[in-house]
Amino acid sequence: MKYDLHSHSHFSDGALNPQQLFAEAKRQAVTHLALTDHDTVGGLVQAQAAADEFDVTLINGIELSCTWEKQLIHVVGLNIDPKNKLLQEGVQANKTRRLTRAESMHEDFEQHGIDLREALKRVVINRAVPTRPHFAKALIEQGYAKDLKQAFKRYLVKGKPGYIPMEWPSLTEVSAWIRAAGGVAVLAHPMRYKLTRTKLIRLITEMRDVGILGIEVSTSVTDAQQRAMLADIADQFGLLASIGSDFHSLEGHWARLGSAEPLPSHLTPVWEQW
Ligand code: AMP
Ligand code: MN
Ligand code: MN
Ligand code: MN
Repeated sequence: MKYDLHSHSHFSDGALNPQQLFAEAKRQAVTHLALTDHDTVGGLVQAQAAADEFDVTLINGIELSCTWEKQLIHVVGLNIDPKNKLLQEGVQANKTRRLTRAESMHEDFEQHGIDLREALKRVVINRAVPTRPHFAKALIEQGYAKDLKQAFKRYLVKGKPGYIPMEWPSLTEVSAWIRAAGGVAVLAHPMRYKLTRTKLIRLITEMRDVGILGIEVSTSVTDAQQRAMLADIADQFGLLASIGSDFHSLEGHWARLGSAEPLPSHLTPVWEQW
């Protein structure tokens, strides 16, 4: 069994459609794959058909954007019922935030003499929710950046054109949506936020208090030392351990599907209760 519980399709900022994603899962010998697109469950119906075709088990998932102490935090919901009403309302609210932000981003780019409206329409396919990587692609297409990395250096981030500060829902809200949908909520890529250990512990304590009971211990960007540290935290706080590559694309710096190191065996994997 090989689990990968964090991946993206072109329903958000991934490059592959669900069919291509599950073909790749099969190629990488992944037996259980969660599709966790940003703030949308739009790809899950196609994902189920693809999972059946390639004989891979789909775990219905989502990656929700949320704000904690002015910081952007990602919470993954796993084993969710995508039809749940409270979850759908939450997802709709985040989509609305994304659409409003996209308009503000266009206006900000225009202030800098950059018009990305037509290019963005070409880049955002499948009625995907507009993400910053879509804008990055539009910038590349229009010759403003040579690659994703440069686009995220010159634009889209704090202090640069196209950056719009966001107020996403709270940990309490996203946890409620995921749990209402029967899912388990998991802190995504804990090292990505560059928190001090003290602040990370504070985040985890607050998360646990609101029912976010899992943590990604093994990701594509955690080294052995970080995995050991996260395993200790999972142990100490009685958290369920998750594993995910955060796959987006076969190109660029993104990790391969199924490439995250196996979880330390003494931890309770998030799938144990499924
Ligand atoms: P959004 O949720 O629309 O603000 O976009 C966040 C997404 O942008 C993340 O999930 C990453 O896929 C991508 N991203 C953020 N920073 C970078 C970066 N420096 N280089 C490439 N992709 C990035
Ligand atoms: Mn992404
Ligand atoms: Mn993320
Ligand atoms: Mn992700």
